[in-house]
Amino acid sequence: MAKNSGHWSQGLLASMNDAAAVVDADDRVVIIKDKYPKALFHFLVLPRQKIPNLKSVTKNDLSLLEHIQKKGEEIAHRANSELKFRFGYHAVPSMSHLHMHVISQDFNSPCLKTKKHWNSFTTEYFVDSKDVIRQIKVKGQFSTDTQRMNELLKSDLRCHVCGKCFATIPSLKAHIVMHDVTKLKDS
Ligand code: AMP
Ligand code: ZN
Repeated sequence: MAKNSGHWSQGLLASMNDAAAVVDADDRVVIIKDKYPKALFHFLVLPRQKIPNLKSVTKNDLSLLEHIQKKGEEIAHRANSELKFRFGYHAVPSMSHLHMHVISQDFNSPCLKTKKHWNSFTTEYFVDSKDVIRQIKVKGQFSTDTQRMNELLKSDLRCHVCGKCFATIPSLKAHIVMHDVTKLKDS
């Protein structure tokens, strides 16, 4: 058994081989349900190719990154064509194996429990796939300021729709359900 293969950070590899978790696949990618979804619809698109994270991505992987995004857009449309989704990567991921998040913008989920969860999807910690692709095209590699990103996780809780600040996750969650998420589309 490979070193660390049973470690929690390797869990995505196990889910890629779990028929109950897989929602779609082709010769280049596997799409799984996020095990702890932070919204009504939350998927992860993973390349079959063993790429640990964005830091190891090069210009040679651009067509793969574009394919990952296209497959993410397809699964989002199939899951719910009315909701707004975002497609992107955590600047500093916790799980190994490259994965793009496909997440509906309702953030209506009991698994969304902490400030860190909220800020990882609603601040610049969440890097849109399009911006990753642009950065690789221009600079040939992805880079991020890890210290700044970790500071962002501690930012005040702010509604992603109207910008209002909240002291606690329960008060923020009670507020966001009042936004009509279907109308968020294309806003
Ligand atoms: P990150 O590495 O920060 O991009 O986030 C990893 C994502 O993987 C989180 O949204 C977790 O909820 C999710 N996750 C953690 N373990 C598993 C697993 N075994 N199978 C599927 N998703 C997982
Ligand atoms: Zn709001």
